[in-house]
Amino acid sequence: MSASSISQLPKLSERVRNSMERAGAGAKVWAEVTELSRQPNIVADLGQGFPDFDGDSAALQACRDVLQPSDGDRVKARRHQYSLVQGSARLRGSLAAWLATSYPPSAAAGHFPRAVDADQELLVCTSGTEALYCAVMALLDAGDTALVFEPSFPWYAPQIGLAEARVASVRLDYPAFRLPDEQALRAVFERERPKLVIVNSPHNPSGHVASADELRTVGRLCLEFNCYCISDEVYEKYVFDGHCHQRLVDVVPELWPRTLTVGSASKLFSLTGWRVGWLYGPADLVAACRSIHGNASYCAPTPLQEAVAAALDQAAALPHGDPADVPPMRQRFVDNARKLAAALAATFGVTSSLPHGGYFLVCDVSPTGLTDTEFCSALAKDRGVIAIPLRVFYPSSDPPTNLVRFSICKTPELIDRAVAAMTRPI
Ligand code: PMP
Repeated sequence: MSASSISQLPKLSERVRNSMERAGAGAKVWAEVTELSRQPNIVADLGQGFPDFDGDSAALQACRDVLQPSDGDRVKARRHQYSLVQGSARLRGSLAAWLATSYPPSAAAGHFPRAVDADQELLVCTSGTEALYCAVMALLDAGDTALVFEPSFPWYAPQIGLAEARVASVRLDYPAFRLPDEQALRAVFERERPKLVIVNSPHNPSGHVASADELRTVGRLCLEFNCYCISDEVYEKYVFDGHCHQRLVDVVPELWPRTLTVGSASKLFSLTGWRVGWLYGPADLVAACRSIHGNASYCAPTPLQEAVAAALDQAAALPHGDPADVPPMRQRFVDNARKLAAALAATFGVTSSLPHGGYFLVCDVSPTGLTDTEFCSALAKDRGVIAIPLRVFYPSSDPPTNLVRFSICKTPELIDRAVAAMTRPI
């Protein structure tokens, strides 16, 4: 086929072309960071948020068991085939039980927290990212507006764009990254008239954990302005130093009929490559998401669903409030953040916002006189350490250019290597 006949092919979807165009600047920065992280001088990749240690041991053991030959056992053999679109009954049951342990149901029937119905109110997806995609596609039409708080997980805005909806963003300020007060937020709701609001706590990238008051403010406005909510709670178990994660639907129970809550085994069990995530909410919204998920990937990998169920069962068996009901990495992440912040201050004079939760540390590099991209590039070239310029987390066109994100979801050894590289005289 000649080049000229290729150029006569029909155009790609306009929706997708627009989305690729909008991704432009952020995608370029990500590509540059990825390229830098492949260079031979790199000693510590603290860019993308994935652990450099094994995932949950119960999940790994269950996975090994599932992968054993079935020896003719038809039930075992079935575990390598499609699950139901909504996820395996085993995983949905385990998820519902784990949610009930993590957020004990209220004694008063119908009140929150209440048990999630494993058949009608839960959908297992091929990752938290896909759960978000299904929710965005199910809730938005072309021309609608979705409100996000920036900095934000960089997948929200492109997903909203693929739904041909508009992103309205509200800035959260360094160092606290608190949600705005009622007066400021009301003005945004009045101006933007969003149909959907995406809330993320514990927050990527800042590590801010929203208080009940902050969540109540957002919740009240969502009710008053008749919005849907997506509550992205993938870091729900990663809260530090006495901070407490509260589910949006527990703080504002009236939000339940209009809220989809997203979770993921990626973060819960340090299994980012398994691509098992979920969402839950009222049956009608979950059914709408199921129709998107069924057409996108049909179902999450069945053997991995089984293994995640085993990890959830083990976590749910612990009495609520048991100190072991905690990913053991929590303290490790706190220590990592402190070590990195100290090294950054000692070497470059930069200040950091110590996270209250999540997988990341954000620092302000202005004292170096460099921008975020210049700092990250110099850090990679001179010290062999990869970090991410925070501008990729801002969907608006005027992001701050002085903030940088480091992953803290790493082994102490890797963090020590990063600290040694950063503090060594050059
Ligand atoms: N939400 C947030 C805030 C995230 O940071 C991530 C992953 N980094 C996700 C959702 C999606 O996680 P996954 O697709 O790995 O389940």
